[in-house]
Amino acid sequence: MKGKAVVVFSGGQDSTTCLFWALKSFDEVIAVTFDYGQRHKLEIECAKEIAAELNVEHHILDMGLLNQLAPNALTREDIPVQAGADGALPNTFVEGRNMLFLAFAGVLAKVKGAKHIVTGVCETDFSGYPDCRDAFIKSLNVTLNLAMDYEFVIHTPLMWLDKAQTWELADQLGRLDYVREKTLTCYNGVKGDGCGQCPACKLRSRGLEKYLAQRKG
Ligand code: ZN
Repeated sequence: MKGKAVVVFSGGQDSTTCLFWALKSFDEVIAVTFDYGQRHKLEIECAKEIAAELNVEHHILDMGLLNQLAPNALTREDIPVQAGADGALPNTFVEGRNMLFLAFAGVLAKVKGAKHIVTGVCETDFSGYPDCRDAFIKSLNVTLNLAMDYEFVIHTPLMWLDKAQTWELADQLGRLDYVREKTLTCYNGVKGDGCGQCPACKLRSRGLEKYLAQRKG
């Protein structure tokens, strides 16, 4: 695809894979990271480091308001990460986060003359987050177009992939080792393969093991 894209970029596995996908798919790529008081500043440091290494224009926007509105386990040291019981959302859920991120990414995209917005949201492993659903993304795409009288296209390359397939995509892009070593997904702030104990690490490592086993076989 021709043109310019803004990638919503956290420095984690999913959004880094999306960044590589965008670099292959578009002429020009801009990354945007939201600082909402994540427990681990290291997340933002990872994002900075990756963007600098890949020579990608990088914006870090202050979204502290989100933490003020909805304090939760991703932003507060005193709230431990817990899985949701009986179909409830895990307490890492931040109400409206993707909606707000994508709206701000849209404003940045328009200012920068970019039509394309790329986000790593995914309905497959989505833990029930309502603003990761495809229907929401399509609805927001229409809303952004109307809000700014502009023809945005929101791309969600991971929407229907499970974690193993997300690793496969990184591999197809020739960047499996890079994503494995340089990104931070762990809720305990351990880069690369992570702490191995938190829900994010478990999901990530299960996916990687499954993909590596398939690749061998
Ligand atoms: Zn972890």
